[in-house]
Amino acid sequence: MHSPTTLRIDGRAIVENTRRIAASTRAEVMAVVKADGFGHGRAALLALEAGATRLGVTSIEEALPLRWAGVEAPILSWLNPVDADIVSALRHRIELAAPSLAHLARIASEARRLGARASVHLHLDTGMSRDGAPASDWRTMCALAREYEREGTVRVVGIMSHLARADEPGHPLTVRQRLLTDAAARTARSRGLTPRFVHLAATAATLTDPSTHFDLVRVGAGLYGIDPSRTTTLRGAMTLTTHVTTVREVRAGTPVGYGAGYLTREATRLALVPLGYADGIPRALSPDARVLVRGRRVPIAGAVSMDQLVLDVGGMPVQAGEEVTVFGPGDAGEPTLAEWAGWAGTIEHELVTRVGPRVHVEAAA
Ligand SMILES: *Cc1c(COP(=O)(O)O)cnc(C)c1O
Repeated sequence: MHSPTTLRIDGRAIVENTRRIAASTRAEVMAVVKADGFGHGRAALLALEAGATRLGVTSIEEALPLRWAGVEAPILSWLNPVDADIVSALRHRIELAAPSLAHLARIASEARRLGARASVHLHLDTGMSRDGAPASDWRTMCALAREYEREGTVRVVGIMSHLARADEPGHPLTVRQRLLTDAAARTARSRGLTPRFVHLAATAATLTDPSTHFDLVRVGAGLYGIDPSRTTTLRGAMTLTTHVTTVREVRAGTPVGYGAGYLTREATRLALVPLGYADGIPRALSPDARVLVRGRRVPIAGAVSMDQLVLDVGGMPVQAGEEVTVFGPGDAGEPTLAEWAGWAGTIEHELVTRVGPRVHVEAAA
């Protein structure tokens, strides 16, 4: 027997979610597959088959393996240090975001050295104070980019920004960021740039606000069934199951786990499960957290340890070896990732990207 724990990735769910999203907008869809496809592995090919036309990742290091795997579609990498491996990016036709004047200058100088032309997306901060150039640099950035275009070292294919509060549909900051993005594109065009793609929306705005779609939407979470706006029902693509290791019978008042953080209320059965925070189960968890055993939801008793946790299965005659479903799309009554995110005080994105390396991953077609 291999690992008792399996993370099943439902490729059909990724395909269906991508199709639905692509059908809901006139913009092109960039499938965001950073962090190993939000922990889902080979999502890139599925999303491209299902209607996405481009891929987006964070670093150049994340982009290159996609080329090595034979992906021909355009790939954008948007977060790199100034001294990143630009040469490899250019050699493999990876498009690069320029979030500062220094980045733009370095990209142009590496392209010059290589006799190449870099495809660049100028990245503007419109209200998040995170990634992207400050508005005060925008005119200079456009002018510099135009000089590099004349020189033949850069081609500006995109203008991008990112929304801070898109998961609150109708928020005035989103309106403001959209107007600033529009104005930035006009400035760029007035400086002689001809970007093919203006792009701003990620999943939440793609699902709720067509006015933010421009030419391209960058969708990550939604492909995997996560809807931060809670306005649709996309299909979860991950199911985490494991098997009971041992079962013991205990009396009322028995303390369980580190710190004796749980006392059994009555005589009951405790089932040990070989999953802990090293496998991605959050340690900070509300007492409401449940998993599914024999079609019933049972509580987690006491603290989650690094490698294991204990279930209070009450009177159920659970046996060692029985299957436990931690989360899934919800078809059989198992908790969803959205429920887990609530119990852990986090968002689904964090849960899907932190499943640990000991978990056996199985791709279901
Ligand atoms: C992660 C990321 C996205 C995708 O966001 P989702 O909400 O997961 O769709 C889009 N754009 C940028 C810049 C990102 O970092």
